Amino acid sequence: MGTPAVDTVALPWAERCSSLVGSVIDSSTALLQQQKHDIVRFAMGSPAAEAIPTELLDELSGKALREYGAASFDYAATEGDPALRTALLDVLAATPESTTSDRLLVTSGGMQGLDLASKLFINPGDLVAVEAPTYTNGTATVLSYGARVLEVPVDEDGMRVEELPELVERFGPPRVIYTIPNFQNPSGTTLSLPRRRLLLELAGRWGSVVIDDDPYGWLRFSGDDLPSLRELGAGNPLVVSVRTFSKILAPGLRVGWVDADPRVIRRMINAKQAMDTCTNLPAQLLVAEFLAGGHLADHLVGLRPEYRRRKEAMQDALRQHLPFARFTDPDGGFFLWLTLPDEVDTSALFDVALAEGVAFIPGRALSASGAFGNSLRLCFASTDPARSLEGVQRLARAVHSVH
Ligand code: PMP
Repeated sequence: MGTPAVDTVALPWAERCSSLVGSVIDSSTALLQQQKHDIVRFAMGSPAAEAIPTELLDELSGKALREYGAASFDYAATEGDPALRTALLDVLAATPESTTSDRLLVTSGGMQGLDLASKLFINPGDLVAVEAPTYTNGTATVLSYGARVLEVPVDEDGMRVEELPELVERFGPPRVIYTIPNFQNPSGTTLSLPRRRLLLELAGRWGSVVIDDDPYGWLRFSGDDLPSLRELGAGNPLVVSVRTFSKILAPGLRVGWVDADPRVIRRMINAKQAMDTCTNLPAQLLVAEFLAGGHLADHLVGLRPEYRRRKEAMQDALRQHLPFARFTDPDGGFFLWLTLPDEVDTSALFDVALAEGVAFIPGRALSASGAFGNSLRLCFASTDPARSLEGVQRLARAVHSVH
């Protein structure tokens, strides 16, 4: 007699566990942290270390602490701390995404916005249209609610929205359409204005919820801003806009927001209460000070040309050292999508590249169906031009050793 060995006890997993797919993108953070040798990190979608205004944040967190004392470490209201909500509404009021308090929910990063939207609208077995390639942490979220994924290809103008009607004829209307309209992760492409309009028209026809996931929209460094889905769909209850401070300020803060119909926000508040009670209050107060002090505009003005310089440096290095590779030319954001000759498998290339001292995300990890075996995602934003050149040289050595 006695208790059975721990690993022989069968665990009573819930059915949804089989839909938890994990994230290659997130796992690469830990993997890279374990590496002892010098690695050029093109893998994670992190802002440049130099782009984090640490001295200012230090000063502002001291200010928040002096102002709020112990209250800065208390629970916060689920919908978000009032100081942050006020400061954010003021910032948004000066943009085409001006909104109202009843449409706003502060979240724990953009990921929580995606999770809440999925929780409210996806039943097991529902179809969700997603881009191919896409940000697979987003598709992991919809899959975790039992969605069936319908892939829509991406070209240089973003999701090929005009292909949706034919897909719908074959598979039925999607419950949700998940899109990253600006400088898409991972392709760097931007959804054109006609496609934005068509997407909203089709969503209206089918009653599909549009998850408008736009972490990079304020990081445009060339061309003109296009009206966002939030702007084009103003007052349209089907549009749920997910935003975050992760790319425009700092991802470790885990502060984002959702802008959606007040009915959606009320339900999201209930769901968030059953999830994490409130978003980290010290982080909210820090972001509130940053916004209320008027620092965001200057910060963005500094980031945009720097990210453009980094993109161009990476492209120059790629032209020089991988002349047979094709790559996209984003107008903003963090990522380039690189395509190598058909016979190169970038999943296999990953280990070789890591040994050479450079990391990227293989294409197969960036679509729901695991396609794009000869492509890969490069983050140009985190690496300065000299280091980026070094990284591309290492990548070229790795490619030449397998090809
Ligand atoms: N959506 C997209 C398209 C992203 O690229 C990211 C971050 N990589 C997120 C959502 C998640 O943002 P956060 O880190 O704020 O959760």
